[in-house]
Amino acid sequence: MTTRAQEVLQQTQQLADDWVRPEAERWQRERVMGLAGVHEAARLNLIGVQVPVEQGGLGLPFSVKSRMAAILAGADFGFALSLINTQGVASTLANWLPAAVSQRWLGDLLAGQRMGCTCLTEPGAGSDFGAIQMQATPHGTGWRLQGEKAWIINAQVAEVMVVYAQTQPGSGAKGIAAFVVDASRPGFHRTDRGRTETVASLGTGGFVLDGYEVPADELLHPPGMAFKRAMASINMARTYVAAMATAMVADSLRIARAYGEQRHTFGRALQEHQGWRWVLVDAMVDVEAAQLLIEQACAAADAQAPMDALAARAKIFATRMAVKHIAALLHALGAAGLSAQYPLSRHLAGAQVATLVDGSTEMLLERVWATQVGSAPQNTHTD
Ligand SMILES: Cc1cc2nc3c(=O)[nH]c(=O)nc-3n(C[C@H](O)[C@H](O)[C@H](O)COP(=O)(O)OP(=O)(O)OC[C@H]3O[C@@H](n4cnc5c(N)ncnc54)[C@H](O)[C@@H]3O)c2cc1C
Repeated sequence: MTTRAQEVLQQTQQLADDWVRPEAERWQRERVMGLAGVHEAARLNLIGVQVPVEQGGLGLPFSVKSRMAAILAGADFGFALSLINTQGVASTLANWLPAAVSQRWLGDLLAGQRMGCTCLTEPGAGSDFGAIQMQATPHGTGWRLQGEKAWIINAQVAEVMVVYAQTQPGSGAKGIAAFVVDASRPGFHRTDRGRTETVASLGTGGFVLDGYEVPADELLHPPGMAFKRAMASINMARTYVAAMATAMVADSLRIARAYGEQRHTFGRALQEHQGWRWVLVDAMVDVEAAQLLIEQACAAADAQAPMDALAARAKIFATRMAVKHIAALLHALGAAGLSAQYPLSRHLAGAQVATLVDGSTEMLLERVWATQVGSAPQNTHTD
């Protein structure tokens, strides 16, 4: 790892320790997002982690982004995924649009002035991405969008959106295109559909586009390309979600170990009871196994090698084991595990979300079947 990447990871750790961990319980209690932390991330230029240096970013490889995501998720999964969604929009615009067009939003995204989100899911279509109903109709030299999105991270506040829509109803994945949508323009209306308070700092919500007009140069991925490109970037998302889930288990383990040293029952520290400490050891072993799967997927991403199965396996294993072990570690603290003093119930909610976003466990099992055994539907998966 380069010195620059190491510095960036140190800065990320500081962001997690100084801006996220001390505030995360309040965000959850007050049902708000961690926007001050986003501004601090922007001050450190962390939003541009994968944006090329000549466009104002850091130009670092995917594996660094994945480690950043893990560091932040150990403090608060919702904040981490919210920030990553803005990072993702910044790098998508920088990579796929001419600079003259991406400049309309890139500076504001990198400065933390505007948040980004990526919008596939609709009230009627999640796993079945090919079934989305938002319609894109040619209009002059550009397009007009009509439809609704729901369950979108950052949609409560985001202003720069990568939106997927159908250009040829009935054509499934082939007709899907992606557009940049600017929430400050006419035809954009926020809704509460898909708003979840379970992990408040994710800022999930929805919006309706009602005759929203897209100039021709704001078409991001044309029909025929959007689905393929979405599936390519989703492998990275699956990998960092796996890393985030694993980091939440590691943080829960850290807390349980400290608790097991100081809490006594029947005249001994909890950790001196063999049955109690096995819960921790089970989690430690699975964390190590998950880390190996994540490292393999990161190495493939950095080398731009095929990673469908690697990313799917890492996410299936890491998110399942996170739900299982965080619940067990929470239980190992007794009633204290449920108190707001500890982040375990927040981590558990984050782990549950992790099993759904960027392809639910069932969709990923299908991916592994397709890559290792044979065919499986090509039009499933999401965000
Ligand atoms: C907190 C949160 C944040 C999110 N953020 C975003 C975002 O930023 N952008 C975005 O586009 N989307 C986002 N999503 C949506 C997410 O991607 C979807 O929830 C996910 O793809 C599942 O879709 P669904 O909820 O519509 O479930 P459905 O597709 O209705 O499926 C319901 C259940 O059935 C299972 N299932 C479905 N089909 C099959 C099958 N063929 N075989 C076996 N099992 C099946 C699924 O795995 C799931 O468990 C978010 C969701 C949540 C909860």
